[in-house]
Amino acid sequence: MTRELTELTRTDLQSALEALEVEAYRAGQIARWVYKRGVNDFNQMSNLSKELRATLRQSFTIATPAIVRTDASVDGTRKFHLRLSDGREIESVFIPDTPAMTFCVSTQVGCAMACAFCLTGKMGLVRNLTAGEIVGQVRLMAQELDLLDKSFNIVLMGMGEPLHNYDQTMKALQILADPEGLAISPRRITLSTVGASTKIERLATEPLMPNLAISLHATTDEMRDKLVPINRKYKLNELLDVCRRFPLKRRNRITFEYVLLKDVNDTPDDARRLVRLLHGIRAKVNLIPLNEAPAIDFRRPSDARVNQFAQILADHHVTVSVRKSRGRDIRAACGQLIVEGQKPSPAQRAAALL
Ligand code: SAH
Repeated sequence: MTRELTELTRTDLQSALEALEVEAYRAGQIARWVYKRGVNDFNQMSNLSKELRATLRQSFTIATPAIVRTDASVDGTRKFHLRLSDGREIESVFIPDTPAMTFCVSTQVGCAMACAFCLTGKMGLVRNLTAGEIVGQVRLMAQELDLLDKSFNIVLMGMGEPLHNYDQTMKALQILADPEGLAISPRRITLSTVGASTKIERLATEPLMPNLAISLHATTDEMRDKLVPINRKYKLNELLDVCRRFPLKRRNRITFEYVLLKDVNDTPDDARRLVRLLHGIRAKVNLIPLNEAPAIDFRRPSDARVNQFAQILADHHVTVSVRKSRGRDIRAACGQLIVEGQKPSPAQRAAALL
């Protein structure tokens, strides 16, 4: 039986090698080939003996997502449309300067959260990605863009809800952090979530803790129930209490993302309520003027309206930034990732309850 090498942490790989009577230190050599050099063919691993390469070939496969298409935006953003080994498709995005180089990575095919303004949400959840598939997006993009030896950030802000695919997402962080591999510290990774409180509490206990971004988007339960349906289960107060208790490292803060929807959640009263809600939390607010799409029933507010909202926050000493939307011309901006024709089965829909 062959095992998929990219699904293994280095410790897992060491045990798998030991079972084959191969020295454990070979795991580090293999990780360097795969993650630092982008080699996915054992034949090219020239510091391994011919016999060892043959053993490895018989024992492991190395899956890499296939590129269906890449699109380049005028602003330098690149969208990668990828196919996984079962034929399912996802999208990942490279943003060259936010201000660092950033990879925006998916954690699920589709998403079960059904936020009212998000295209991915319209797909429903098709399936979770495996840890190897999450890391595979980074490995592939870094290799394609010749960035394997460069430093970059990762945002788990592509398709899917990372905390709804908790175990594979955490395992992906472990594989990404391996010093013999991509060596990406969790400090350079931001996990964005709709905010399932119990999962955030669990995240707070993890040894590899990424930066946290909460998709807040509303300042009353009534509105958030409509925009972010998971709010019907985890109310604003509960979510913000969990955030208040979240163990932040020195100088670190929780990002609150807030999609601005014209005449829906963009009023001065909303801005003032937001200030009150965030009281006592080391927070920064990232305003995201809606990226419009024909299938989305909301409008983007005017720049003046966005600036007014930002100004009220700033006047109350809340750190605020407005997200520049990147890659809109190639539909790579927030909420625009969708792969058509991949409807979930009824069983998948039923399994999608968080
Ligand atoms: N499920 C996670 C990860 C997705 S991150 C989460 O919800 O946080 C993508 C971010 O883009 C989220 O804050 C999401 O609410 C936001 N978004 C979704 N649709 C959008 C749209 N049409 N315009 C702008 N932002 C959008």
